Amino acid sequence: MKKNKKIILEKVLVEDYAAEGKSLAHVDGKVIFIDKAVPGDVVDIRLLKNKKDWAAGHPVFFHSYASDRVEPFCSHFGICGGCKWQMLPYPKQLQYKQQQVADQLQRIGHIQLPAMMPIVGGEEQRYYRNKLEFTFANKKYLTNDEVKMKEVSQYQNVAGFHAPGVFDKVVDIDTCYLQHEPTNRIRKLVKHFAIANGYTFYDIRLHTGWLRTMQVRLCTTSQLMVNIVVAHQQEVWLKALLDYVMKEEPSITTLLYTINQKWNDSMYDQTPIAWHGPGYVMEKLEDFVFKIGPKSFFQTNTKQAENLYRITRSFAELNGTQTVYDLYCGTGSIGIFVSALAKKIIGVELIDAAIQDAKENALLNKITHAHFFTGDVADVCTEDFFTKHGRPDVIITDPPRAGMHEKLVRQILAMDAPIVVYVSCNPATQARDIKLLDEKYQVTKMQPVDMFPHTHHIENVVQLKKRHNI
Ligand code: SAH
Repeated sequence: MKKNKKIILEKVLVEDYAAEGKSLAHVDGKVIFIDKAVPGDVVDIRLLKNKKDWAAGHPVFFHSYASDRVEPFCSHFGICGGCKWQMLPYPKQLQYKQQQVADQLQRIGHIQLPAMMPIVGGEEQRYYRNKLEFTFANKKYLTNDEVKMKEVSQYQNVAGFHAPGVFDKVVDIDTCYLQHEPTNRIRKLVKHFAIANGYTFYDIRLHTGWLRTMQVRLCTTSQLMVNIVVAHQQEVWLKALLDYVMKEEPSITTLLYTINQKWNDSMYDQTPIAWHGPGYVMEKLEDFVFKIGPKSFFQTNTKQAENLYRITRSFAELNGTQTVYDLYCGTGSIGIFVSALAKKIIGVELIDAAIQDAKENALLNKITHAHFFTGDVADVCTEDFFTKHGRPDVIITDPPRAGMHEKLVRQILAMDAPIVVYVSCNPATQARDIKLLDEKYQVTKMQPVDMFPHTHHIENVVQLKKRHNI
């Protein structure tokens, strides 16, 4: 194969799923990673990268589609950045996710593995997110067909999601299937009221316009929190809009607004103000309650979080006598969830606001044997810290996508806990860390959970036990 980047490979049969949403094929003995195609498709591929032993590209023409493709249910499929796997039947999505976990652990980890327990799919494959954020913008992302129609202007006030890779234009969403009503209804009524009354929509390039974003949290308790973010104080507009939203949608239990004068949308340094209701919602996992404010972190798929935590609890093999460390604990939800079976819980987390939420959640659930500490896990978890708070019988660790810092892995090895439960949202970094833990720990169980149907994202729980001969 030539080195030329503009090369087009013709009539390539996509053979298998690779990772991170990409599939693969082989041409002249070289592996080709392909975006936006699934195994079974036959495509012409334009190469974007062409290295010595691999290449990557995307399809420019489909000769035929995989026979098991299904019709995507959402009219925004292919344009909106979410739910990119709708063309795959759900059992196939689960199969690819399970296979990816096995591949990563074998390929990167190179360790002895037990048989994998079957992936836990979501009973609800739509309406599963408790949190959504929509963006208001004065520029609409146009489809290829719309671009060709000269009469369609991109200068329209819209509400929806950013198109992938396009920061200044928004896909105008009609119906999103990620959350039950009244979410679509609320987004539309805010948009239409704002347009009817001449309110301006934010222009992210120019930092002009008023209406910016809206976050919606819809809990399994039916409590509903809406936070409308605007660019500057405009009391007349704000009052009229918030009163109208409450009148039209009285099921909202908390309505907030936030005045964000910055160039970026991040909320961590902003102060949401409650207009109606207590300023937070309550969510439930089994019989535990969690208070979620507009800035609190909480797993976005409540039902599957319950399954994830149940697996974590069962892998921890608790009997009421153990000291359990919950590393990367966020708002303390795993520690609280397993607390009834533990003698003591010690949670560690970087973000202080999350630790404050964790303490409050422990109090709410009348849990007095859980203690939470703010700091970088790699710095906090020293020999002294473990001595002070009790040697760990079980370590539960749930790091972000980057995985654990190597320093922390070394400390875990030194701590010598009989059981480590590793919850991960990235099997590649999990495999890397487990390879290091392998000198003392053997993988004894593993079970993936699908927290995000119709996306390639994956969560995996691994139980590691200290080897007997060490
Ligand atoms: N276990 C929690 C949260 C997991 S998300 C839950 O299930 O809800 C990962 C968490 O790790 C985030 O809350 C993030 O703030 C935290 N984090 C990231 N890097 C960290 C570090 N170096 N030290 C401590 N916590 C960290």
